[in-house]
Amino acid sequence: MPTELRIVSDDPVDRDGPYLVAPEELERLLPDEPSFRVDQLREWLYDKPVTTTEGMVNLPVALRERLDDNLWPFEVEQVQEADGGRTRKWLFRMPDGPAIEAVLMGYRTRTTLCISSQAGCALGCTFCATGQFGFERNLLAGEIVAQVQWAEASLRNQPMRNSPDHVTNIVYMGMGEPLANYRQVRESLRRLIEVKGMGARRITVSTVGVVPGMRRLADEPWQVGLAVSLHAAEDTLRSSLIPLNDRHPLEEVEEAAQYFFDTTGRRVSIEWTLMDGVNDTDEQADLLAPVARRLDAHINLIPMNPTPLTEDRPSSDDRVEAFRDRLLALGANATVRTIRGQSIDGACGQLRAATDGRTGLTSSR
Ligand code: SAH
Ligand code: SF4
Repeated sequence: MPTELRIVSDDPVDRDGPYLVAPEELERLLPDEPSFRVDQLREWLYDKPVTTTEGMVNLPVALRERLDDNLWPFEVEQVQEADGGRTRKWLFRMPDGPAIEAVLMGYRTRTTLCISSQAGCALGCTFCATGQFGFERNLLAGEIVAQVQWAEASLRNQPMRNSPDHVTNIVYMGMGEPLANYRQVRESLRRLIEVKGMGARRITVSTVGVVPGMRRLADEPWQVGLAVSLHAAEDTLRSSLIPLNDRHPLEEVEEAAQYFFDTTGRRVSIEWTLMDGVNDTDEQADLLAPVARRLDAHINLIPMNPTPLTEDRPSSDDRVEAFRDRLLALGANATVRTIRGQSIDGACGQLRAATDGRTGLTSSR
C-alpha cells in the first residue's frame, strides 16, 4: 500500500544576504570591494543598524543599491503597538513562506526584545498558541539576529518614550523552542555576544526542558541566562500539558538545571504559566517550592494568556496572589509577571502570526 508522506523540513533554507552570511564572511558578498568597505558594512549591520541601505551614508551609492534587494532576510509585514506605545510587535515574513514575530517592551531602564527561534514549534504544549499551530522550520542564525537588529533600527527611528534607545535585553521566548534548534541558536548567540557586543548576562534562553540542549548551553563560554518553563511539579500533570515531559521528565530537567547553575554560576529562573484549576493549586505550590529552593531559582508566575485551541482558562487574580503567597511562605522566591501586549496577541504564548491571511486564521481578540 502506498503511504502518503508529508515532508516537513526542519532544515533552514539555504539563502544569501548580509545578515545570512557569517559576519566574518561578509567579503563573500563584496568580492570586488576593499576590506575597509567590508568593515564599514559590518559596522552598519552589527553596531548601528539602519532600516534601509540609504542610511549607510559612508558607502558608495552603487554599492548601497546592490545591497538594497536583500538587506533584511524577511519582509516586515506588520507592526502593531500596545500599552501606550511601549509594546511593539513585528510580523516578519520569510521569502519561502513562514512568518515569525518579535515583541519589544520598553521600560524605564531597559528595553526587552522577545525573539523567535523557529517558525512554529513541534513540541505541542497544550496551552501555547505557537505549539497549537505546528512546526514550519528552524530559523537561521541570521534570521534570529536580524530580528534584534530590525528592532534596534526601528528604535533609532522611533524611540519609545522614557526607555533606552537601543535593545538592552533579549529573551528567546517568542515562537519556537530554542534548544531544539541548537546549532543556529548557538550561532545567533555568538554573533550577538561576540560581534554585536551584547552582554551575555542580558540574554535569556527559555526552554521547556530540552535536557541535552540545557547541558550543551551550560558548557558554552558565555554566561547567558536560562529560563526553564516548568508549569507543573509532578510528572503526570506535566506530561498532560507538555508532551516532551514523557521524554525528559521532571527529575532529568531539574538535574540539567542544577548542572547549568553549577557550571555557569548563573541561577536559572522557573517559568510557570498559571491555568485555572490546573496548576494553580496549593498542592502544586507545595511541590514547586522545594524544587525552586534546591535550585535557588526565581519563579516567574505568568497568568495564562488565552489561546484559541485550549479549554484552559487563566487563573483568577486572587488565585494568582494566593499561589505566590504560598510559595513565598514556603521560602521560595516568586513574582508575578506583568502582562504586556495581550491586546495585540503579543503576550507570552500568543505568538502564532495571528494575522496570517494565508491560513485563514483570525486573531482571538
Ligand atoms: N519554547 C520555549 C520558549 C518560548 S515560550 C519555552 O516554552 O520555554 C515562552 C514562554 O511563554 C514559556 O515560558 C511558555 O511556557 C509561556 N507560554 C506559552 N503559552 C502561554 C500562554 N498561553 N500564556 C502564558 N504564557 C505562555
Ligand atoms: Fe513550543 Fe514553548 Fe510553545 Fe511549548 S510553550 S509549544 S515549547 S513554544
